[in-house]
Amino acid sequence: MGKLLRINTKTKTFTFEETPETYAGLGGRGLTSKMILEEVPATCHPLGKNNKLIFAPGIMSGSPAADTGRLSAGAKSPLTGGIKESNAGGLVSQKLAKLGISALVLEDKPEDDDYAMIVINKDGVQILPANDLVKKGNYDVMASLWDKYGKKTGILSIGQAGEQCLKAASIQQADMNGRPGRAHGRGGLGAVMGSKKIKAIVVDDKGADRLEIKDSEAFKAANKRWVEMLHNHPVTGEGLPALGTAVLVNVINEAGTLPTQNFRRGRFDHAQDISGETMADTITSRGGIPTEGCHPGCVIKCSNVYHDKDGKYLTSGFEYETIWAFGAHTTIKSLDDIAMMDRLCDDFGLDTIDMGVALGVAMEGGMLDWGDGKAAIDLLSKVGAYAPEGKIIGNGAHFTGEALGVARVPVVKKQALPAYDPRSCKGVGVTYATTPMGADHTAGYGVTANILSVGGSVDPTKKEGNVELSQGLQVATAAIDAAGLCLFVAFAVLDNEDGLPTICQMINAQYGLSLTPDDVLELGKQILRDEKEFNKRAGFTPVDDKLPEMFNDEFPPHNTTWDFSDADLQKTLDF
Ligand code: SF4
Repeated sequence: MGKLLRINTKTKTFTFEETPETYAGLGGRGLTSKMILEEVPATCHPLGKNNKLIFAPGIMSGSPAADTGRLSAGAKSPLTGGIKESNAGGLVSQKLAKLGISALVLEDKPEDDDYAMIVINKDGVQILPANDLVKKGNYDVMASLWDKYGKKTGILSIGQAGEQCLKAASIQQADMNGRPGRAHGRGGLGAVMGSKKIKAIVVDDKGADRLEIKDSEAFKAANKRWVEMLHNHPVTGEGLPALGTAVLVNVINEAGTLPTQNFRRGRFDHAQDISGETMADTITSRGGIPTEGCHPGCVIKCSNVYHDKDGKYLTSGFEYETIWAFGAHTTIKSLDDIAMMDRLCDDFGLDTIDMGVALGVAMEGGMLDWGDGKAAIDLLSKVGAYAPEGKIIGNGAHFTGEALGVARVPVVKKQALPAYDPRSCKGVGVTYATTPMGADHTAGYGVTANILSVGGSVDPTKKEGNVELSQGLQVATAAIDAAGLCLFVAFAVLDNEDGLPTICQMINAQYGLSLTPDDVLELGKQILRDEKEFNKRAGFTPVDDKLPEMFNDEFPPHNTTWDFSDADLQKTLDF
């Protein structure tokens, strides 16, 4: 194990400590969730001095294994009031691992209003004044830090939303071009960083030793099979590289489960205008980049760079969930307007899912008209202007619904639902209801067997089999997040019986262990037990594992309803 780097944000001091036995063998989400359970009082205020913001590379991060550069960020969430892990690509995870840091822990909070930034390299840690970066968006912050510290450094930063401690504030990571295209988006972790008055973190691994691999020959052989597996699967080898995650717009629309106009129906008349096919054509014709990785070693490369009508850079890491949230959900059909909102969210540091859903809720409440892209851009811009309307929308869909007296607010544990309707994609619906994270498709992506026929097939419109589907995926996902693997590897793993054993072989070769697939799945279960326990201590009960009443309505075109009992749902994570 590496060392824990603890930084006291009040005294501006730091310590390196040996990773204690309690945390041995853990990484990524496994480590952030265990540390939060052990060290953060569950009833503390998320923006108070007792909350901690923890960044942890995965167990495999920093190694040459493909697609292992995800970084987990964890804290008590200002949005949900429960435990939160949000992971992202970028450069930081691999660099922390190479510097021998298993977790970076931000503790306490300053009593004054001065901001600081943190620089970590092989020579140690500097905690520097950063008031000159205040009120700057992530684009400016990252550009100036790359100029100063070099264009290969990893950067985490917050924008105006994090400074205002808004509940939908993200922490952005610089992508491989130094732009804020990657996000620890969900759960308001940017507000926790803002409460500790940390504007940015720079991580530089220049001069650090290469990560030790105990059995490099066995590692190389397993990684070779791993890369072939990812290249040979139709989703990870063809669909995602060609069209990015937006490949899903037409697929999910065709399946009748693309939530449209605040979850009223499952098909959007203008789906083609915002589809992956349209996006890829637009990117290519304007000279953008249709496919790239979000960190070195990604072989799937679902990311991209989107240019405006004049061929100038507009945004990057432009994804399906974002396109759905600002598109079908609000009935905005201009891909350029949606791309502009993606850019604003990256710059201000906001979760695109909660923002898109909040805009739909604002349309529901009469604050702006359905489908009005220009009005949506104006309202979102208020966040960067520190205006009162921006504070409403920037606090997310739940807060916006409360402020405007709206009853149709699609949230679980106050976090906005993502881009698949739970009534006609029930496997992911069970995940929305039961994951300790609040509504989150990535916590147990039932779309695999429900819609994509990956890892088997379960009818998306019926109850049967969907609790079991969500349970299996939630366990596997927790383990994937702990490894530092990109979730998208799951497509190949679910369809290949050699998938999980190959991951085990790489971990075993890296650390000299003899883990079995069962050990890895037990790790996933333990992570979920830890997260459930934290939420229980924070006051969560089975009442919180439910979908809102609006999902009792029939959902066309399948005319299905949400029909799971509380007892059905409580079985999901009962292990
Ligand atoms: S597949 Fe996409 S999200 Fe996953 S690591 Fe590669 S670029 Fe990042």
